Amino acid sequence: MTCSPAELKKKGDDFRLKWEAFDSRADFDGFVEFAVMASSVSEFLGAHGLPGLHASAHALEKEVLSLFDACSQQELAPATRAQLGAQVYALCASLRAFVQGNTASIAERRVASAQALIAELRVHKKICFLTETPHAWSDLTQQVAYFGIQAQTLSLKNLDALDPSVSIVLVDSQGCGAGVFLATVQALRKRFAHSQLIGLNLTDDFDTFNRALGAGCDFCFAASTAHFSIMGTIVKWCGNEEEPAYRVLVVEDSKTASASIRRTLSEGGMESVAVSQPQEVLGSLQAFDPDMILMDMYLAGCTGLEVTRVIRQHAEFLSIPVVYLSADTNVALQVDALRLGGDHFLTKPFNPVVLNAVVKSKIERYRALRRSMFFDSLTGLLNHTTCKQRVSLAIAAAQAQGQALCVAMLDIDHFKQVNDSYGHAVGDHVIRSMAWLLKQRLRKTDEVGRYGGEEFLVVLSSSSAAQAQQLLDAIRVDFSMIRQTQLGASFSCTFSAGIAQWTPALSAEELVKQADAALYQAKRAGRNQVALQHPHV
Ligand code: GH3
Ligand code: MG
Ligand code: MG
Ligand code: MG
Repeated sequence: MTCSPAELKKKGDDFRLKWEAFDSRADFDGFVEFAVMASSVSEFLGAHGLPGLHASAHALEKEVLSLFDACSQQELAPATRAQLGAQVYALCASLRAFVQGNTASIAERRVASAQALIAELRVHKKICFLTETPHAWSDLTQQVAYFGIQAQTLSLKNLDALDPSVSIVLVDSQGCGAGVFLATVQALRKRFAHSQLIGLNLTDDFDTFNRALGAGCDFCFAASTAHFSIMGTIVKWCGNEEEPAYRVLVVEDSKTASASIRRTLSEGGMESVAVSQPQEVLGSLQAFDPDMILMDMYLAGCTGLEVTRVIRQHAEFLSIPVVYLSADTNVALQVDALRLGGDHFLTKPFNPVVLNAVVKSKIERYRALRRSMFFDSLTGLLNHTTCKQRVSLAIAAAQAQGQALCVAMLDIDHFKQVNDSYGHAVGDHVIRSMAWLLKQRLRKTDEVGRYGGEEFLVVLSSSSAAQAQQLLDAIRVDFSMIRQTQLGASFSCTFSAGIAQWTPALSAEELVKQADAALYQAKRAGRNQVALQHPHV
C-alpha cells in the first residue's frame, strides 16, 4: 500500500459525505457527484495496492453507474436508495477498520524508509506460498530473499498461521483440488484487503483462468510458466515505485465549463491547468508538460482543430493525446478532428465518470509509449540514451549545488559462458536479477541504466568516491551470493565495477569514459571487484 492512513481515511470520509449530500437532496447533480466519487474511491484503492477493498468498491461503483440513466430521468426509488446507502456505509466501515488495523505498521514503514541510508534495503516485504508441495518453490523462496523479500510457505490447511502483513499470497492449485483452491482464494480475498493474490500451477484453459480471476486472484500463472517469470511479477509488485499524478491541459474558453472539467479531473486524482486563449497553449505545454490535452471545439477566433494543427507542428508534441469536447455532433467535424490525430470525441454536457475513464485510458497508453522510449524493456531500467542524458543532468545539478557526484560502470563477468552453458533465456534472467538488485539497493535519487548487453551505468548523486565504493562493493558481494537456479541449472555470477568521481570541468562523456577505464582495471585485476579511477588518469 502506497498511501498514508490519513489519505485513506479522508477518501472514506469524503465518500460518505458525498453520499449523505445526495441522500438528503436526492437530485441528479448530487448523484453525479456521488458517482464520480464512487469511481474515484474505486480507482484510488486499486492504484494504491488494496485489491480486497478495491473489489468491494468496484462492485459498488458498477451498481452506481448502472443507475446513472434512470437517475437522470426520475428520483431513485426509496428502497434502491436505502440499499445503496447500506452498501456505502459497509464500505466506509471496512475502510475505517483497515485504517485502524494498519496505522502502526504503515507509520513504522514510513519512518524506516525516510531513514534509509545509502546501503540499506529500500523495501522489506513479506510474501507467502500456500502450497502442498513446498519443495517445488524452494528456488523462488531463496531467490526473492536477495531482493529484500521474505517468503514463507504454508499448507492450505493452515490459513490461520498466515501473517496478516504479507504483500502477496501465492496459492498453488496443484495437489489440493479445484474446489479447495477456489474456496481458499475467495476466503483470502475477504481477509486480505491490501495483498495481491496470485494463482499458481493452473491448467492453461479459459474456464480455469476465468474462475480463478472471478474468485479474486489478481494474477494467474499456468503450470508451464517458468519460475523466473513468476519471480518478475513478485519483484514488480513488491517494488515501491509511485507514479506521479496524471496531468491534463484543459483548453476551454468558457470559465464555467473549464471549472467543471477541472473539478471532475481533480476528483479522479488528476492535476490540471486550464487555458482559455489558443495563443497560450504552446507555452502551457512547455511549462506544465501534460500527459494529454482536453480541447474545446470552439474557441475565441479559431477551432480546436486549428489549435491541434499548430501543436502537431512541434516534434515534441506529436504524440500527445488530444480529446475533443464539443456540444454539437457534427460528423464531418469529428472525422476531421480524428484525421488530425485527435484521439477521441466527447460530447458536452459530459458524463464525468466517462470523461475520467477516457482521459485515464488515453494517459495510460501515452505513458506506456513514453516508458518504452526511455526505459529498457528487459529490465525496466533507463535505456542507454536516457542514462547518458541523466549523467549530464547530474553534472549540472552537482555543479549548481556544489555537491559530489560519482558514476560507476558495471559489467557481468564471463557472461558469454552463461549464455553458452545455459542458453540465452537464462542469461536474460541473470541480467534482470542484476537490475532488480541494483534498483533494490540504490537510493531513489540515484539513477541506474542498462548501458549495453550486460553492462550497467549507475549515477550516484552527492556520494563521495569512498561511499560509492562501499555501496557497490556491498552490492557486488550480494550479487555473487545469488544462486541462479533456473531451468534446472544452479550457478552464481559476479560482476566487476569501475567508479569515477566527477571533478569540475569534466564532461559527461569524459566521466563515463573514466568509469569505463576503471572497469577495465577491475577486469584486468581478476574480476569480481570494484576499482576506483586513478586520480590522474
Ligand atoms: P568479461 O568478464 O570480460 O566481461 O567477459 P564476458 O563474457 O562477459 O564478455 P563481454 O562482456 O564482452 O560479453 C558480453 C556477452 O553478453 C556477449 C553477448 O552474447 C551477451 N549479451 C549481450 N546482450 C545480451 C542480452 O540481452 N541477453 C543475453 N542473454 N546475453 C546478452
Ligand atoms: Mg468554447
Ligand atoms: Mg561481461
Ligand atoms: Mg560487456
